[in-house]
Amino acid sequence: MAAIDVHVSKVGSIVAGQVRPEEKLVARCALCARDVDSAAALAGGQFACAPCLRERLDALSVARFRLVESGSGTPWGKSAG
Ligand SMILES: [Zn+2]
Repeated sequence: MAAIDVHVSKVGSIVAGQVRPEEKLVARCALCARDVDSAAALAGGQFACAPCLRERLDALSVARFRLVESGSGTPWGKSAG
């Protein structure tokens, strides 16, 4: 797996596997448009914070569940929603 660049506010960054201490660094999330404690690189030079990434992981799970469930012949029952 390729290294993913990370910014950590007031500490520094890891870019292309290289640790770069930088006390003035402010990590910024492109998804919630906020300054955050830490953020991981997306494509295009943008970064995203952990809560935003977690939200998207949840969205994948929920979407997969809903899509599979809406198909025929699911082995499990229907959801409460
Ligand atoms: Zn965010």
